Amino acid sequence: MSRTETLAGSLDTGVTMTMDSENPSRETPQPPTTDTGPDPARLTVLAGPTAVGKGTVAAAIRERFPDIWISVSATTRKPRPAEVHGVHYLFVSDEEFDRMVAAGELLEWAVVHKAARYGTPKQPVLDKLAEGRPALLEIDLQGARQVRETMPEAHFVFLAPPSWDELVRRLVGRGTETAEERERRLETATLELAAEKEFDVTIVNASVREAADQLVKLIRSPQISGKS
Ligand code: 5GP
Repeated sequence: MSRTETLAGSLDTGVTMTMDSENPSRETPQPPTTDTGPDPARLTVLAGPTAVGKGTVAAAIRERFPDIWISVSATTRKPRPAEVHGVHYLFVSDEEFDRMVAAGELLEWAVVHKAARYGTPKQPVLDKLAEGRPALLEIDLQGARQVRETMPEAHFVFLAPPSWDELVRRLVGRGTETAEERERRLETATLELAAEKEFDVTIVNASVREAADQLVKLIRSPQISGKS
């Protein structure tokens, strides 16, 4: 199956509504149901190799689709220029991260690129889902595997580069890492690319706008076909 087929076969997000044609402002009465309210919102987990553009796609969604809530991770990494505490990450000390782990406050956490710890605060995710608001986690593969253990009903989406060469170009082009860090990230990326088959759906990030649109359709879709 080609990459473009992967997603197309999984999406059916059509919504059917009935209206009274004589009086469009009045809804046609529907038979009583045992429904107790809207379906609970679904958690979507976005993972993929380093520098594939997960953060950029997530930022595009934050800007264009404010109804979708995106988790803010805690990290022990130092902020980059223009990164804001509480917006891009919760930048915490090693001691504070230890405390969060010990208190069971993280849904998942991992050491990423052998460099820093990153984790998803659990309570905000549970609160948003309970409110019926779709939630998105943008995390690494180790974290995605942990979430699959605890919340297997989530959608697991793999963001893939159009090619390995393009991935390397993006990593070098970003220019925010040292040569040693880049080597480490490419090593991690090789392992991460091999994990694509563990995911429900692959989105190829050839264009940020299109990848964001495809991801939003998935986030709002009630169920991925073939998944119980
Ligand atoms: P960066 O340092 O470039 O912002 O992110 C490095 C990596 O950490 C990215 O692959 C990103 O997906 C991952 N990451 C960010 N937040 C989390 C998190 O809460 N948990 C895990 N497991 N990985 C995360």
